[in-house]
Amino acid sequence: MQGIHQVFEKHENVELFVNYMDTKRRSEPDYFELLRDLYATKYQHFKFDAIISSDDHALDFLLQYRDELFPQTPVVFSGLNAFTPDRIKGHAGYTGVYESYDVAGTIDLIRQLHPSVKQIAAITDETRSGNIFKSLLESAEQELPSQLKINYLHNYSPEKLITTLQQLPENAIVLWAIYLRLPSGSTFSSSESVKLVSESSRLPTYCVWDVVGQGVVGGKITSPNFQGETAANLVLKIFDGTAADNIPVTGSPLVNIFDFHFLEKFSIDLDRLPSNSIVKNKPQSIYEQYREYVWIFSVIIFLLLVTIIFLVAIILLKRHKDKFEGMAMHDQLTGLYNRHYLQEVAAHKLAEALRHGYSLCLLVLDLDHFKKINDTHGHIVGDFVLQELSVLLENFSRGEDIVARIGGEEFVMLLDHCNVAEAKGKALVIKDKVSQLNPRGIPITISIGIASLKESGEPFSKLLDRADKAVYIAKNQGRNCVVTV
Ligand code: GH3
Ligand code: MG
Ligand code: MG
Repeated sequence: MQGIHQVFEKHENVELFVNYMDTKRRSEPDYFELLRDLYATKYQHFKFDAIISSDDHALDFLLQYRDELFPQTPVVFSGLNAFTPDRIKGHAGYTGVYESYDVAGTIDLIRQLHPSVKQIAAITDETRSGNIFKSLLESAEQELPSQLKINYLHNYSPEKLITTLQQLPENAIVLWAIYLRLPSGSTFSSSESVKLVSESSRLPTYCVWDVVGQGVVGGKITSPNFQGETAANLVLKIFDGTAADNIPVTGSPLVNIFDFHFLEKFSIDLDRLPSNSIVKNKPQSIYEQYREYVWIFSVIIFLLLVTIIFLVAIILLKRHKDKFEGMAMHDQLTGLYNRHYLQEVAAHKLAEALRHGYSLCLLVLDLDHFKKINDTHGHIVGDFVLQELSVLLENFSRGEDIVARIGGEEFVMLLDHCNVAEAKGKALVIKDKVSQLNPRGIPITISIGIASLKESGEPFSKLLDRADKAVYIAKNQGRNCVVTV
């Protein structure tokens, strides 16, 4: 039914009428006649487009009464245990799918997984299917080695079956072929029956049709679901215009199906199973259980990683950029601003001073006889002297002053809000401090020239020129002094 529903669910224009004939309980001719009368009354004014039958009795019923009840309605049968073409010979409009069984295949499977097996206790009932299974077992036994016997537990009462199962030897295996109708005439559902059998014996139970999941280890079987699916698809083919008589009858594929719980219970390793076996009830791995969450989480982590990499790249690039910008603005040896930067900001500073009417002075500072220091102590010591001097100049400047190195041993201080008197005072202090600096014990002095911005305004180059001239004068005056122009 599941297989049939699965197919028709996708076809809205198909309406399904289900009649359960219940032939596992009653299947004699009188009962069939009653069913015929029932369907004749029920569907007196109704015409079906197709009939699906499931199981042998349903087909037998249709072969007998279809022409009377549902004339010309095509029949698709399914779930037949023993099909031979002569079964539908002379009947028009019949096609379908029959169940294939491989009793010998299941016995092979048992021998493969339990090499020491000496007895197979095969359970069958007195139904039509039960008798078919029994004869299939008998022909399979012909091919078995002499030390392996089949013990036929045919049509036993539940009590006798339980006792027999309990007394089976250690090297026996139980084969549940079919046990649905009891000698008393009452019936079992397949799950009730399998449960009774598997709970009565301590031995593994196998099957020849799909009751895996109800208490058996497994078997080589056909799936009833496949039967339903195939039958429904054959009906669709008929609806599409193919005559039932032109559709060949098909069998069903067989697969080895196992129940994980029972494989574990009887210590049968999964890698001992034949390849492409299906294992039901296999516990899912954490990944299988939370597959969706694992994927969502992974995507989030991936996006976060991409974002982090992106941000780190931006930070590194920015640092690089800052470094290059810094290098472009600063003197490498002393870390003071360089001539390039001074020229960039000086014009702005001068314009501001003019606009707001405050004074601005420029100091040019040049070490005296520095060449001699280099010549006497070497360039490295000379560099050190320049570094020490630059620290001193920084210490004597305010935050808004600009201290720059504009040549080898030439420095500049641009002081705004500073008049000539203040600049001179500051220059004198610096001159004295430089003479006290004594880097590496070397006495040094400095000459300082000061120029103050003209009130009428002038370009920076002019201001620098004048301060330079003042230094020149200071040098001529004997060095270590301050000159204002
Ligand atoms: P004056 O008192 O007339 O200024 O004499 P001076 O020797 O200081 O002036 P001069 O311009 O003749 O020499 C400057 C020297 O500065 C020449 C050069 O070797 C040295 N110099 C320039 N740049 C650097 C530098 O980066 N490191 C070092 N160690 N020396 C430098
Ligand atoms: Mg110089
Ligand atoms: Mg000099």
